[in-house]
Amino acid sequence: MQKITLTTFLIAFVFACSSAQQAEPKQTPVKSKSRLPANYKVPVKNKSFEGEGSRLILTARRFAPGEAVLLQLESRDGKPCADCTIKLNGKEIPVVTLPSGGWGIAGIDPDEKKTEIELQWQLEGLAVNSQILKIANADFPVYHSTLNLGKYSEAGHEKKKESQDHLKLSWELKKNAYAQSDANHLGGSFFHPRDQHKITSPFWAKRVYARYRVKDGKKEKLKPLERIHRGTDLRGFEGTPVYAMNKGRIALAANLYYEGNFVLIDHGNKVYTGYMHLSRFEVQQGEIVEAGQLIGRCGSTGVVTAAHLHLFTMVHGVVIDGLSLLALTVPE
Ligand SMILES: [Zn+2]
Repeated sequence: MQKITLTTFLIAFVFACSSAQQAEPKQTPVKSKSRLPANYKVPVKNKSFEGEGSRLILTARRFAPGEAVLLQLESRDGKPCADCTIKLNGKEIPVVTLPSGGWGIAGIDPDEKKTEIELQWQLEGLAVNSQILKIANADFPVYHSTLNLGKYSEAGHEKKKESQDHLKLSWELKKNAYAQSDANHLGGSFFHPRDQHKITSPFWAKRVYARYRVKDGKKEKLKPLERIHRGTDLRGFEGTPVYAMNKGRIALAANLYYEGNFVLIDHGNKVYTGYMHLSRFEVQQGEIVEAGQLIGRCGSTGVVTAAHLHLFTMVHGVVIDGLSLLALTVPE
């Protein structure tokens, strides 16, 4: 079992991000961006449901916790979805109107325990359609390790004033960025945020730390500590490119305490992708970016052990695996 001191723990594991130590080659030239890295394929699954005056088509990489789902509503009379509603698991999904229907994106909660969730939709003036969507069980990895807290106690380990100020500012910047929410920017296919695909720490991985300290020569057990990885870590040496996954507005491009240099894209309709630990920004706050546009460079800023890209994705307040968006093609 690995022994880690409290100081190392605080620095390295606050976000439970982990990456192998990496060499640091200089800037990589940026070639024209292809949607997905070479030899990387994304499965696409569809489910279709018939309802009164309509058909609802669902698309996902997998129908499982932590995955994004595209919901496309086709009206039989070929009219736009002026006043239609879609609900997944009782939660209303904002619908973008199309000439003969509409669409929305939902996230299946990573902590969802049910394997059958309710799907409801309704067109103006017609009956509510109700169906059951079967989803797979969550199978996120769990890692165990041991922490020896030695003579330290957590209570006495306070952050410096400078760090506290930075934390407070970071919190305010994020709060302001999420306060403004755009109408839809999304369209077409999503782009992989890197030009190569290697996951160094998977989405929603749980790390359980069995903790103890040695007091008067006796090993004293402490309450285990659990940390959930609320994003996907992708390999990215210092200076390698990071791309926007789809069109959106740069809601934030700032240096934050944990996230380091952080770019947050508001894709509209409460769909956000965030790119952490960057060494450099290639965009400015407020700018509108296209899918596949260079937005920054990988780095090791913020609370990290080595250079990598931490991809953070949130759909209507639900944190999902951003890579699941790659299975979706948004109607334009
Ligand atoms: Zn991470």
